[in-house]
Amino acid sequence: MALTLKQIDNFVVETRNYNHDLLVHVGKSLAEYTTYGVGGKAALFCEVQHAEDVSWLVQTCRRDHIDYFILGGGSNVLVNDSGFEGLIIKLGKNFKNLECDADAGIITCGCACTLAKVANTAKGAGLSGMEFSAGTPGTIGGAIKMNAGTATD
Ligand SMILES: Cc1cc2nc3c(=O)[nH]c(=O)nc-3n(C[C@H](O)[C@H](O)[C@H](O)COP(=O)(O)OP(=O)(O)OC[C@H]3O[C@@H](n4cnc5c(N)ncnc54)[C@H](O)[C@@H]3O)c2cc1C
Repeated sequence: MALTLKQIDNFVVETRNYNHDLLVHVGKSLAEYTTYGVGGKAALFCEVQHAEDVSWLVQTCRRDHIDYFILGGGSNVLVNDSGFEGLIIKLGKNFKNLECDADAGIITCGCACTLAKVANTAKGAGLSGMEFSAGTPGTIGGAIKMNAGTATD
């Protein structure tokens, strides 16, 4: 169901009051955020840098019965031409951090890190386990949600 102008207005104002750095875009085209490059606009769109902001946005959407969708690399998403009547939460650069402790065999990364970056880091550190993801587009968060690399013939 389409969001009303009042719902959109309230959401934008409340978000600005919560955090001036959180910018909500109204009617943003989603084509540039997906691999296939097609589709309509999001009624609301917000790029976030901190986990607590994601939490606040999700809670606010749930309270106001607004649909929300967390967008990773957009490689497994086809946006309808009629767009998305809700909030797109796009994870920003702060979710792309990556640390590698080769001696301990541990890579720690944010959910917006690309699979390619993690796989390359693992290769460079002589760690195995990420080979399956070489050539798969998308982010770690999207891969976990989609169980990437687990499909069999
Ligand atoms: C050319 C091509 C080749 C591909 N090859 C493969 C392949 O070999 N194997 C394979 O398994 N897949 C493959 N895929 C599918 C896709 O790459 C994977 O599903 C990928 O893991 C999706 O990640 P993404 O970040 O792009 O997620 P998105 O497409 O942005 O989102 C996918 C889902 O994950 C959710 N999501 C994304 N990020 C988060 C997050 N941080 N927290 C919670 N939920 C989140 C979204 O809400 C959505 O439900 C391919 C896709 C393309 C276009």
